[in-house]
Amino acid sequence: GLSERLQSVMRKLRGKGKVTEADLKEAMREVRLALLEADVNFKVVKSFIDRVKERAIGQEVLKSLTPGQQVIKVVNEELTALMGGEQSKLVQSANPPTKIMMVGLQGAGKTTTSGKLVRYLQKQNRRALLVAADVYRPAAIRQLEILGADLNTPVFSLGDKEDPVVIAQRGVAKAKEENLDYVIIDTAGRLHVDQEMMDELKRIREQVEPDEILLVVDAMTGQDAVNVAETFHSELGLTGVVLTKLDGDTRGGAALSVKAVTQCPIKFVGLGEKTDALEPFYPDRMASRILGMGDVLTLIEKAQAAVDAEKAKELERKMRTLSFTFDDFLDQLQQVRKMGPLEDMLAMLPGAGQIKGLKNLQVDEKQLSRVEAIIRSMTPQEKENPEIINASRRKRIANGSGTTVQDVNRLLKQFNDMKKMMKQFSQMSKGGKRKKRGF
Ligand code: GDP
Ligand code: MG
Repeated sequence: GLSERLQSVMRKLRGKGKVTEADLKEAMREVRLALLEADVNFKVVKSFIDRVKERAIGQEVLKSLTPGQQVIKVVNEELTALMGGEQSKLVQSANPPTKIMMVGLQGAGKTTTSGKLVRYLQKQNRRALLVAADVYRPAAIRQLEILGADLNTPVFSLGDKEDPVVIAQRGVAKAKEENLDYVIIDTAGRLHVDQEMMDELKRIREQVEPDEILLVVDAMTGQDAVNVAETFHSELGLTGVVLTKLDGDTRGGAALSVKAVTQCPIKFVGLGEKTDALEPFYPDRMASRILGMGDVLTLIEKAQAAVDAEKAKELERKMRTLSFTFDDFLDQLQQVRKMGPLEDMLAMLPGAGQIKGLKNLQVDEKQLSRVEAIIRSMTPQEKENPEIINASRRKRIANGSGTTVQDVNRLLKQFNDMKKMMKQFSQMSKGGKRKKRGF
């Protein structure tokens, strides 16, 4: 995939003490190919590469002490800029309800995303009305009603005989009457862009004057998604794009090209079929993810959802400074169940893809209590400095915890693996500033 290829280019750059202009050219050639293969629009690729080259050569990057790292920084910044730079938030009207009109081709995920948005808004204590304005697709209204029932959210419908424009208009009036914060109009799509669909959408737009017109596109369709976005934008004037099915086997090109080609920001990404599988789109995080620089922010956010904020910050600090003890290890094990699989979490850290031994760190929940017993049988000194745990201490710990010396050995090994891994993380994410020069 794109990410793997870019990561390998970046790794090569990182490994070099000196980066020559020839190295840079070669790296940019590989980046260019990787982007094209990922289905990024070729004009976008060209201007992207030109910008990176210009900045890398122009700013004396190559003569700096950490040229590899500097080039990576430039690539990261340009990727972020390509995807819109700043996060683009959902609009909130000063005069509620905020009106959101969902548009897009059939099967792109409009209805699903409407439900996801309700859920997203609910988390901010905002209430919405769903409006069933797709009168063409069989069972479309029913689909929305089921979603609404799941989400405890009202659905406005006038059946499939009424004009969608009337449905939309009366839906908005209803949301206003009920003092709701948002009204989300789920419209009909077709298999291909066609004039009839556009005309209907335009009539709805004129009648309703939405605050947001969100185009839902399927990321798996690559370049097509971008073309569809271009057409919808020129016909309707979009305010944002939702890229769905990023959980699938997509080449990532759409995420990189949509903004550059259409000037329309990606506001959300869909990462699954369930209503909670929607995330705001952060260009900088996406860029870092693509380059394998990890996504520490998302990691922290996830941790925060389960653990309290202080603990998450502390854990992050400890991972970085390597002042991680057996007490933290125990703490961490206990949080794992709340946070989701440890591997998922670690995969978001910088460079995790290259780290061996991740597999050994799977947490068997059944073992949790045994591990806990072993750690509780250690003295405070042993917890701080596991190196001092010699054979006789191991025996004592095993006896004290009702386990075997093998169990103790296994845990000590796991702990060591984890520390080793953290050391690799911190070297990578600090760019080896403390030790090696040249990243
Ligand atoms: P609509 O015709 O645009 O309203 O599309 P739907 O909302 O009915 O979605 C079409 C299909 O795509 C459904 O099977 C959804 O479950 C699925 N879908 C929508 N969004 C996502 C997503 O982000 N990831 C995955 N894997 N499937 C999605
Ligand atoms: Mg639908």
